[in-house]
Amino acid sequence: MNEPSEAAGPGLLERLAAGPVICAEGYLFELERSGYVAAGPYVPEAVLEHPDAVIRMHRDFLRAGSDVMLAFTYYAHREKLRLIGKEGVLEEMNRTAIRLARVVAQEGSALVAGNVCNSNIFVDGEAESARTVRAMFDEQVGWAVDEGVDFIVAETIAYVSEALLALEAIKAAGLPAVINLAIFRDPLTREGLTPAEAAKRLEDAGADVVGLNCSRGPATMLPLLGAICEAVSCHVAALPVAYRTDDIEPTFLSLSDPGCDCIPEERPFPTALDNLACNRYEIAQFTRDARALGVNYLGVCCGAAPHHIRSMAEALGRQPEASKYSPDMSRHAYLGTDPEIPAANREFVREM
Ligand SMILES: [Zn+2]
Repeated sequence: MNEPSEAAGPGLLERLAAGPVICAEGYLFELERSGYVAAGPYVPEAVLEHPDAVIRMHRDFLRAGSDVMLAFTYYAHREKLRLIGKEGVLEEMNRTAIRLARVVAQEGSALVAGNVCNSNIFVDGEAESARTVRAMFDEQVGWAVDEGVDFIVAETIAYVSEALLALEAIKAAGLPAVINLAIFRDPLTREGLTPAEAAKRLEDAGADVVGLNCSRGPATMLPLLGAICEAVSCHVAALPVAYRTDDIEPTFLSLSDPGCDCIPEERPFPTALDNLACNRYEIAQFTRDARALGVNYLGVCCGAAPHHIRSMAEALGRQPEASKYSPDMSRHAYLGTDPEIPAANREFVREM
């Protein structure tokens, strides 16, 4: 059994007590775009088949300012592996994902987090379903503990009752628990609780951090965060998708793109969202707005790329390694203001 990463210094709770913590996510979408994950199944097979791609992604996020290397075990659970006929590599995939995260975490001072998520087979109120899902959480949490993670994130869960099963599994293992719910069109959990009621229930059950991830973009997640911050005294997390959701289409699943007429079945989710992506400045604005509400655990979910995370870090007043290459438009060939730029170039901009 590995010990938690002592080289990383303070643990999650100590870091949160000192200020905000950034956790970059969105690995499935980022690796789908680069050709290492299939949209649809969304199983992180790249962990075993292309570990270099996973390491590269972790490293890009570390350089961009992520304080946490989240093990790429989203959907590396028994139900998903069964669906693609690969239950036999379930344990190897989970353990390897954590080791890859650790390799990169140790290049900086990042924490290593285990990750469990929505089971997709949970049926509220059915004891047999609860037992099956709890067993799925238990085995993933067990491997994560064995590999020495610093804490565990349970995320993208739409039922508080399912989230509570994940929380119980994490607390039984004695690790800090971050529990993030996914809220869809109706701004309630699937049992019908407000996010604030749900967050309070999770805090009362022992969660160290409660919040929201995925599904909603910055504009439609932000209005739900204030009530959560008021309802709980623990730390609050917010990790929106990096897409421009609005009141009419509040989730990335519901987004349309009137600017394009060649999208299969006219639903941009999940492979034609490019034109609806948030830019880095919108993520910076979300970071400031969420901080003002009291959110202390920040990240970006599906759609996130390293430039979003760097922007988030810089909005918190930090200069991560990648800030060395942050924009300097004063030296642009045509838009630059540097005296070395020929005046004729600046004048020609009007013609461009
Ligand atoms: Zn997501």
